[in-house]
Amino acid sequence: MLKRSEVKSLISRFPRFEDNTLSMYYGPRMPKAMIKETEEVVALARKFKEEVVRPLYLDLDRKTHEDLDYIPEEVVKKANELGLYTMWIPKMFGGKGYNMPSLSFFNEEVGSVCLGFANLIGVHYLGMAAVMMLGNTRIMKKILGDVVAGEKTGNPCLISYAITEPTAGTDVEEVDLEARGRLVCHARKVDGGYILNGSKVFISNGHLSTWHTVYAYGDLKRGADTKVALMVRTGMKGFSFGRHENKMGQRACPASVLIFEDCFVPDELVVLNPDLLKSFTKQSPRDINMRHIDYVFSLSRAGVGSFGIGAARGAFEIALKYANETEIDGKPMVDYEWVQCRLAEMYANVRLGRLAYMESNLANQHRGAYNLLQMKPIYYYSKYLPEMYFKMFVTPLLNSRMANWLMSKWYLDWQKPEDQNLTTGLASMAKFSCTDFGVRNCQMALELMGRAGLRHDSGAEKVLRDAKLLQIYEGTNQLNRINLFKSLISPQASPRAAFFEE
Ligand SMILES: Cc1cc2nc3c(=O)[nH]c(=O)nc-3n(C[C@H](O)[C@H](O)[C@H](O)COP(=O)(O)OP(=O)(O)OC[C@H]3O[C@@H](n4cnc5c(N)ncnc54)[C@H](O)[C@@H]3O)c2cc1C
Repeated sequence: MLKRSEVKSLISRFPRFEDNTLSMYYGPRMPKAMIKETEEVVALARKFKEEVVRPLYLDLDRKTHEDLDYIPEEVVKKANELGLYTMWIPKMFGGKGYNMPSLSFFNEEVGSVCLGFANLIGVHYLGMAAVMMLGNTRIMKKILGDVVAGEKTGNPCLISYAITEPTAGTDVEEVDLEARGRLVCHARKVDGGYILNGSKVFISNGHLSTWHTVYAYGDLKRGADTKVALMVRTGMKGFSFGRHENKMGQRACPASVLIFEDCFVPDELVVLNPDLLKSFTKQSPRDINMRHIDYVFSLSRAGVGSFGIGAARGAFEIALKYANETEIDGKPMVDYEWVQCRLAEMYANVRLGRLAYMESNLANQHRGAYNLLQMKPIYYYSKYLPEMYFKMFVTPLLNSRMANWLMSKWYLDWQKPEDQNLTTGLASMAKFSCTDFGVRNCQMALELMGRAGLRHDSGAEKVLRDAKLLQIYEGTNQLNRINLFKSLISPQASPRAAFFEE
């Protein structure tokens, strides 16, 4: 038998399996205050869920069927009053600076009652992440400053994220596909800015947002190499809204068409163009583009995973209540073993999926997009220093070239390729597993409830309609499976998952 010392010595001969079990390695390295902060977030989510969402969500869903033009502005106002649009904005930009992984717990909590309401808040942070991951501190300061001002004045200022085009959905989420996709959004360089033409479709919160992070192409035939990112403000000349979609679920959150007709976007609102970063990095525009896509989706796919677990949990809670309150042949349904097996499986799906999105967040936190903000000293520094300090000493620096250089270097040059593979791979895994768990639990709830589940007021049919959309957005689940293979399983991936080392 091997002695303990011999077993220990094996570690040096065989690779660490850190990438397979991030929580084991990084759990103790998390700032402890993050746990308390997450508890605060969950408490706030529960307040919002019970006081705003639950009393309204079914009526609102009905209303969106009766009046196809209806947009829930009053819900956004309420969320704005509760401070939900600045919770996860870093303090240096005037926000409350809650840690980003806690947003996933918020999503799950609110999503367990209504994914439409959850997305009215969650997708605003996708818009924010896109702005931040481009490393332009001057524009971050401006846009996030507007969101903070919108909270103070009671006029919500939301950010949307606009990449999908009428003829390109999956194609704009991957540089290789983008290179040959049928793109339509064109940005022509002119003196002092860009002229934007084309349209974007299915943009969540489009009609409700003030700022839109819009991606367009200098050359539609060479999309991957000529991509630009522009900030467009509602009301700018040449920008208008088309319809918002009459879609199957998540109807509280409008999915809008954005139309650009010779819309002039000045240089100061250009977040990314192939030349802009030349002085900061030697990477090609295509590599910068890929890195940006990976960063944004590594964050947002963990978030969509948490929506999926919200749906899985919501379906479980509805089914459990039904099984407790219903009798079959004079015996409570919950006393039947087949029902217990079903409920156990649904419960397990929720807990397993939660681990998947937490693992993805841990990867972002220690090996990806948040690793700057959530490093222990920086985290504590930004948590405990007073707001005034940031206003006086940090915020003024954000307009400087140095700040821009540092952020761009951090995001574009200093992340190792294996970290990029890990964060994008785990995010894809969380996205497709959790959203599949969500749909699976909804189907099991409906099976268990029979015709009662089909009634609108049961909530069960609505959560299935809502959950199905999750398998499509933020990259279809098929695309995410391919991405997981490419980034962590294929022979070209670096490093390969240690569990599967030959
Ligand atoms: C409710 C909702 C909200 C949304 N919100 C936003 C938003 O805020 N901002 C935004 O920009 N977009 C948004 N979208 C768009 C979303 O990102 C796209 O729907 C998604 O990327 C899929 O694109 P598609 O619908 O065009 O499907 P397609 O790309 O047409 O795909 C159709 C099918 O083909 C498969 N497929 C396509 N290409 C490949 C490939 N290369 N290899 C293998 N299989 C492939 C897909 O997996 C899918 O099964 C939203 C969509 C929905 C439904």
